[in-house]
Amino acid sequence: MEPVAERFGVSSPATSRAPAPSRRLRNRVAFVTVTIVFACFAWSRSLLMTSTPIEADQLAVVMRSVDILEHAGFSKEVFALRYLANYRATDNWWNIHVGHSQAYAATNFPLGVVTLYEPFFLVAADDTERAAILLHEAEHLLGAGETAALETTWRQKSRLGWTEEQYGETKVWKNTREWTIADVPSLFHCGADGEGDCAP
Ligand SMILES: [Zn+2]
Repeated sequence: MEPVAERFGVSSPATSRAPAPSRRLRNRVAFVTVTIVFACFAWSRSLLMTSTPIEADQLAVVMRSVDILEHAGFSKEVFALRYLANYRATDNWWNIHVGHSQAYAATNFPLGVVTLYEPFFLVAADDTERAAILLHEAEHLLGAGETAALETTWRQKSRLGWTEEQYGETKVWKNTREWTIADVPSLFHCGADGEGDCAP
């Protein structure tokens, strides 16, 4: 009579040849990793295929602003802006679908797609002001949310020479101040009247 254990396959040759648990786990991790990489690649390609790149002269403007960030010592932000970012001039399907919070630029994390709208080039007063906008986008490239990006840019602005004294009347300054007050009001409760900038 056939042993019961064999009838139920407990000691069958097929079972004994099954991969060891550690090998099965490795295979599963490899499969999940390949799937994620492929999905990210396809997602990234779809964003690039539904938008247009910035022109060469615009890229030169961007890199001048990145140089300002480099001189101010923002090394990891500069790395992200130089090597991780893919600069686009028009909205991809994702931006169109979810919208974007401001008129100057938008970043799709974690794919490194940075869309620079016309006001980035035409409304910003100079490369220093564009460097401040790029600092905000670099924070997104590194994974920060909107509030954190606004707070970091406002706290670090004087390192770039982006000060109220020189830029207080520009549109980019006024917009950024308004957005930062809305998201991080605690940065504006200083001074004698309790309404001053805490990070001048
Ligand atoms: Zn933002």
